[in-house]
This record gives sequence, structure tokens and C-alpha cells, in this order.
Amino acid sequence: MIKESKKIWMDGKFVNWADANVHILTHTLHYGLGAFEGIRCYKTSKGSAVFKLKEHIERLFNSCHILQMKLEYTPEEISKAVIESVRVNKLEECYIRPIVYLGYGTMGIYPKQNPVRVAIAVWPWGAYLGEDGIKNGIRLKISSFARHHVNVTMTKSKTCGDYVNSLLAKREAISCGYDEALLLDTMGYVAEGSGQNIFIVRKGVLKTVPLTSVLEGITRNTVIEIAQNENIQVKEANFTRDELYIADEAFLTGTASEITPIKEVDGRIIGKGKPGPVTKKLQSLFFKIVGGEEKAYQSWLTYV
Ligand code: PMP
Repeated sequence: MIKESKKIWMDGKFVNWADANVHILTHTLHYGLGAFEGIRCYKTSKGSAVFKLKEHIERLFNSCHILQMKLEYTPEEISKAVIESVRVNKLEECYIRPIVYLGYGTMGIYPKQNPVRVAIAVWPWGAYLGEDGIKNGIRLKISSFARHHVNVTMTKSKTCGDYVNSLLAKREAISCGYDEALLLDTMGYVAEGSGQNIFIVRKGVLKTVPLTSVLEGITRNTVIEIAQNENIQVKEANFTRDELYIADEAFLTGTASEITPIKEVDGRIIGKGKPGPVTKKLQSLFFKIVGGEEKAYQSWLTYV
């Protein structure tokens, strides 16, 4: 169960957690056209800090632009509301969920005048794929569901309705005894997890999927930048499921999942079946960065 916090920001005002309700005919609830973000705030020695706030708010506005939802707020106003939400709830560390949705108005799939509404909720949320997953790795199953085709639902926006695909895949993976799903694109190449990008390491080279069928993950960009600064060669190229099977190392990235090593895919052990040296190095650096311990990366943090 979700750990409740005190207040939720809704259209410019804080309301009590229990009162953050919407009408049953809220348009997005029926047809899925809405956009959201997932952001994390970490505890540092200088107080709480939101990781890559600017990038998340930019992606939220890009999602709304793609979906043709016009917000009444500026990115600066939403960023301020995010920080205020963390402050008001007095949380040292939390997950932050801004959502933009179409409110009550007309029904049917041409919501001409429905209001574009915004809410920001924050709550404490530990390791999404479990502490053991972060430490020792998780088991993936290639999904029987394909990831979105760019001309079915576009992949650069974090659209509410797109997550039906993620949910179906995740449920299938769990029901087969795995921890997480890995979806292939419509061409059959590896795409992404239900809420994560994927990286593999082969012969010292870090490889990730190009941004055609997958979300432009902010953690993905973070990992690429950290790796390049550490002189690890990074390649963005399509790869197949069997290249993943024979990778030396593999891991998932995401705001909720952070950097989670992959130890097994479809019953095949990846590398030595435990987090490898490149994964461990990047993971340890990542946690130092988000925890404010790396001077060179301070610009990625917005202190609350
Ligand atoms: N792909 C999908 C489908 C996701 O939902 C997420 C989580 N936002 C990611 C990738 C990773 O993105 P980020 O690192 O920005 O959280």
C-alpha cells in the first residue's frame, strides 16, 4: 500500500490527501489522454534535493505539447509547486508524481472544452524493484506484448494510457514468476521494461536502445553522461534478445527503479548471475550523485 503523505497540490491549491478527488466523468479516466512524471527527491547532507527537476518538468511540458494539452501554468510555476509539495509534506526523501489530465466536461473522444487540470502528489517510496533487486539483480521475462509503435502511440510523451501496455506486460511477467517484463519493439528488437530503459555491457562497451520505440529516460541520459565521464564507451544501437542473453552485464534504469541489475532473462543467467563491475561502478556513482556526494554533479540537484 502507498504510504500517505499530508497534502496534494491540485490546480494551485494544497488539499488534504483524503480530499484529493476528481469527478467520475473525468475525461482522462475514461480515455487515457493525460501525461505524468515520476521524479525523486533524495536526502543529502545539505538537506533534501530533487534530482533533475528541470529535465522532468521539461519532459512533462513536451508530453503535453505532443498530446495537445495546454497547461495554464509555466514550467517555473510547476517546478515551484513540486518543491512546495515536498516542503509542505515535510518528507526528507520521496517520489513525486505530477499529473496533467483532462477534467470533467464533455464526454466522447473530442474533448474540446474540458479543463486541463494538474496535480502533484508526493509520498515515500523505497526501491521500486526491491532492495534485494538493487543489490543482487532481478529476473526478467521477454513479454508477449510488443512495445508501442511510434505511429500507434508516440513514445516521447509519458502518456497515461500508454501504461496499459506496461501493466499487461508486468502482470504477465509476475504471473510467470519473474520480477519484471522486457518488451520488444514491433520490429522484434529489445525496447524497454514496463517502466525502465535497458543497458547491456559486452566486452567493456555499454549499449542501449536508440530513442525510437522507447521513452527518453532521464536516468538513461544520466547513465550515458556518467559513463562517458568515466571513459566507458557508450553505443546507442538496436540489439536482439539473444544479444541480451549473452551480455556480460545488463541493467535497467528509471527514476523509480534507479539502476537495477539484471541477473536472469527467460531462464538464462546473464554474465555471472550477479551485478558486474561496470554496473556496480555506475550504480555506486549514481547513488553518490543523487545523495549530493559528488561535487561535479551538483547542478543536477535542486535543494528543497
Ligand atoms: N521507460 C518507461 C516506459 C518508463 O515509464 C520510464 C519511467 N519514467 C522509463 C523508461 C525511465 O525513465 P526515467 O529514467 O526518466 O524515469
